This record gives sequence, C-alpha cells and structure tokens, in this order.
Amino acid sequence: MELLENRIREDAEVLPGNILKVSNFLNHQIDVKLMDQMGEEFARLYKDTPVTKILTIESSGIAVAYSVAQKFGVPLVFAKKHKSSNVNEDVYSAKVWSFTHNQEYTVVVSKKYISSCDKILLVDDFLANGAALNGLIKIVGDAGAKVQGICIAIEKGFQNGGKELREKGFRVESLAIVDKMTDDGKIQFRA
Ligand code: 5GP
Repeated sequence: MELLENRIREDAEVLPGNILKVSNFLNHQIDVKLMDQMGEEFARLYKDTPVTKILTIESSGIAVAYSVAQKFGVPLVFAKKHKSSNVNEDVYSAKVWSFTHNQEYTVVVSKKYISSCDKILLVDDFLANGAALNGLIKIVGDAGAKVQGICIAIEKGFQNGGKELREKGFRVESLAIVDKMTDDGKIQFRA
C-alpha cells in the first residue's frame, strides 16, 4: 500500500535491534484517517471471505483492528496481556515471547467472546517472528473457531514470521513489507 510505505519513509525511525519506530502515526499518536484507509484496503483484500469477528492483541493492534472491524461490521476482540501465567478456566490463553520487550507474557481471551462458530480475521500492527500471531492462532484453535486470514500493517520480511505462517497455509496480507532497513534510516520495501 503506497500510502503506508510513503508514511513509513517519511516518519519511521530505525532503532537498534531491528525495531522500526512508528510512534507518530501508529504506536503512540494514531493517524485515524490512515487507519480508515488501511481498514478499507483489508476489506477489499478479504471481500469474498466470511468473517464474524476480528481478533488482535492489546494494545498497538487495536487501532488497526478497530478499522477492519468497522469495515466488516463485526465485533473486535482483543487478547489481554496477563502478568502471571496462572489463568483461570474462563479464558483461552497462550504464552507469547515479546520481540520488543524481550520477555514472555501470557495473553488471554474470555471464553464469552469466541466460540466454535466464529470465522476470524487476525490483525496486528507488526509481524516479526510471528510469536504474537501464533499465540492468537492457538487461542482460536482452542476455541474450535477458524482463522480466515491474517491482516498486518507492517511485516518485517527479513524476519521469519510471515514466511512460516504462509508455509503453514495461512493467508497473510501485509500492507507494507520491509525487506531491509539500516541504522541510517534507509528502508527498502518488497516490490
Ligand atoms: P512477533 O511476535 O511477530 O515477533 O512481533 C510482533 C509484535 O511485536 C507486534 O505485536 C508488535 O507490537 C511488536 N513488534 C515487533 N517488531 C516491531 C517493530 O519493529 N516495531 C514496533 N513498533 N513493534 C514491533
């Protein structure tokens, strides 16, 4: 999506450790018009796919996921980050390794909000090694629901998450795929 690529070129910062900082439109301040346009694009890409729910992880996936949910006219559910790994039986849970914080956390979704009838689109702001998405995929599987596809704003194509998920047969649509980024801020997108 050219609009998003241009925005990344203009506003993103490359931080040490392969982190792309996009605080000014996605991760701290949110450009709501851009979120709307991104939601529109995902709705176009998945227009023939039946969807009953959108699932993301708090907090930075929520803005993108809200827009996608609005376009499909379905509820948005977000997995909550849980400090301890002791979770009760009213929730589906998964352990996730955080790439940006270098620590493991547990994510939970109440059993009230996903059922075996659900056809789910997973949404996140970034895809790096795929840990966050694999956590969501486990939760959907535990609920007996179906993953219809994956919507990512920015995929870092030089990390393996996207490749592995596609090899497992998931449809992954990323609006911008960064193939290379350097510390002096140069960003190369997949054509
Ligand atoms: P993964 O689980 O695929 O390794 O990493 C994806 C998660 O880590 C996303 O939910 C996102 O919040 C965070 N993340 C991974 N890489 C980046 C990055 O380069 N920049 C930002 N802002 N977040 C990232």
